[in-house]
Amino acid sequence: MKITIWGCRGSMPTPGPEKNKYGGNTSCVQIEHGNTCLIFDGGSGIQELGQQLDPDILEVNILLTHLHIDHIMGLGYFKPFYNPECTVNIWGPAGSSESLIERLRRYFSPPFFPVRFRELSAKINIHEIDNSTFSIDGFTIKSEYLCHPGPTVGYRCELGGSVVSFMPDHEPSLGSSDFPNLTEWCSGYNISKEADLLFHDGQYSNSEYDRRVGWGHSSVSDAIDFGNLSKVKKMVLFHHDPAHTDVQLEAMVDKSIQGKTIDFDLVIGKENDVFYL
Ligand SMILES: [Zn+2]
Ligand SMILES: [Zn+2]
Repeated sequence: MKITIWGCRGSMPTPGPEKNKYGGNTSCVQIEHGNTCLIFDGGSGIQELGQQLDPDILEVNILLTHLHIDHIMGLGYFKPFYNPECTVNIWGPAGSSESLIERLRRYFSPPFFPVRFRELSAKINIHEIDNSTFSIDGFTIKSEYLCHPGPTVGYRCELGGSVVSFMPDHEPSLGSSDFPNLTEWCSGYNISKEADLLFHDGQYSNSEYDRRVGWGHSSVSDAIDFGNLSKVKKMVLFHHDPAHTDVQLEAMVDKSIQGKTIDFDLVIGKENDVFYL
């Protein structure tokens, strides 16, 4: 499978010369295998994905982790929604009092967006998931609720023995009384265990995190501890803080890894980077 990052910024898009290296688009990662297209999150990065999508691909799958605006803001600009020959399958969690389709309709409605959900041309299938296991064209996919404000899932996506896990917004240090030592009760462990490639929240430095405990995101240091606990092979730091320039981001990661044991390959997520498994 081919895995492409279309957006790895957190919270809001941040274009500009100081952020060109890692990119300013929000959460969107694509997995391709044959004609199968899985898209994790519909952040602003999905707009460019839609532009570059092979026109012969007429069925796509969007797997939403949650409905925070940075993870859905690109949906209205995703080209296949306006093609009557396309089928778009959407997976995601319901809210506590609203169905997934009701939550999507809130975004696709004035004053947030001029086109209503029912006016989209594509055939759209909605699948509500929670702690679920399902299949898409030979992929086995598990979703599981994560420690993050509001209903939020992470995904584990398996094909032919290769595993990609996606948890862009995640604060596992809150979910366990003995983080990072205990696998039991550790948010996200089950779906990241021994993954070949894990996309994981690494938004903050240690000092930034100390002032933002409970906001739903991880320090780079906690992300590394989580990766060690889960015995992943490679981790892509994701959901970069919108205030961090490329220089600040690299300096933060350099400082965060000093003196730490890292049992896996660690990379900083970069827009347009491609991985193969
Ligand atoms: Zn986010
Ligand atoms: Zn979020």
